[in-house]
Amino acid sequence: MGSHRTFADANAKLEGARYSILGVPYDATTSFRPGARFGPDEIRKASYNFETWVNEWDVDLVEVPIHDFGNIGEHHHPEAMLTELESDVRQMVEAGAFPILLGGEHSLAPGAVRVLASKHRALKCLYVDAHLDFRPEYLGTPNSHACAARRIADILGAESIFQFGIRSIERNEYKDAKRMGLRWAYARDIHKKGMEWAIHEAEKALGSKGPLYLSIDMDGHDPSIAPGVGTPEPFGISDHDVKALIDHFAPRLVGADVNETCPPFDNGNTSALAAREVREIIAAREAKLGKRRA
Ligand code: MN
Ligand code: MN
Repeated sequence: MGSHRTFADANAKLEGARYSILGVPYDATTSFRPGARFGPDEIRKASYNFETWVNEWDVDLVEVPIHDFGNIGEHHHPEAMLTELESDVRQMVEAGAFPILLGGEHSLAPGAVRVLASKHRALKCLYVDAHLDFRPEYLGTPNSHACAARRIADILGAESIFQFGIRSIERNEYKDAKRMGLRWAYARDIHKKGMEWAIHEAEKALGSKGPLYLSIDMDGHDPSIAPGVGTPEPFGISDHDVKALIDHFAPRLVGADVNETCPPFDNGNTSALAAREVREIIAAREAKLGKRRA
C-alpha cells in the first residue's frame, strides 16, 4: 500500500473487478542505474494524460471495472518482495481479476507467473526485452532482474517462453538458452522482417491457443522511445511493434506486467508509454472478448 493516487479510471473494488493493478516499487538488485522503485507511481501519474474512451477499440475505461491494489511494501531481499507480491497477486486472481503489475525491476515477473501457473494449465509467456535475462544467478542472487526469464523457465519450461526485441546476450547465457530450448526474435530481425513475422514465429513456438502471460521490459523498446530505463540498449523495437503484439494476443492474455520504468532517467515518455500499454492491454482485451461474448 502507500501510493497516493490510483491508476486512472481504476475506480472499482477488488470484488467484481475484471482487472487489478499492483505496483512493485522494487529495484534492489539493479545492476547499472537504480530508480525503478519510482516507476509504479510515475506510471500512475502518467495514466491521467489519456482520454478514458479508447477510440480505436470503442472501449471507455470508466465503464470497465478496474481496481488498483496499491503498492507492495519496501523490501531489500528479492525473496521477501516475491513473497508479498505473490500473496497480493493470489488475492487478485482469486477475486477473478486480471492482474497487471507495474514495476519496478523485472524480478517481479516470475512471482506473477508462479501464481498464474497454479490457476492456468499450460500457461506460456511472451517476454519483451533487450536482454535475454537467462543467467542462472547474477551478483549473488538467483532472483535478480537479470535472471527473470530463467526463473520463469524453472516454472513453465524454457520452451514455453518466447522473447521479442533481444539484442544483448552474455555468451554462457546464450549457450544455456539454446541448450534448454528458449526461443526469441532478435530486434534486428523484427526491424528487417516486421512484427507480423515475429508474431507468427511466436505462434509456431507456443501454439495458437492457450493462456499467455505478457511481460514487457520497457528496455525492449528503442531508447529513443523509452529512455527512462535502468539498462538502455540501442537498436530496439518500436512502440508500434509492442502494440501489435498486445493487439494480436490480447484475447489469450491472463496477466501482464510493464517493468523497468526508471523515472530519474526519464523525460516522461517511458512512464507515459508504460501507462498507455496497460490501457491498450485492457482496451484490446475488452473489445475482443466482448465481441466474442456477443
Ligand atoms: Mn528484463
Ligand atoms: Mn532488459
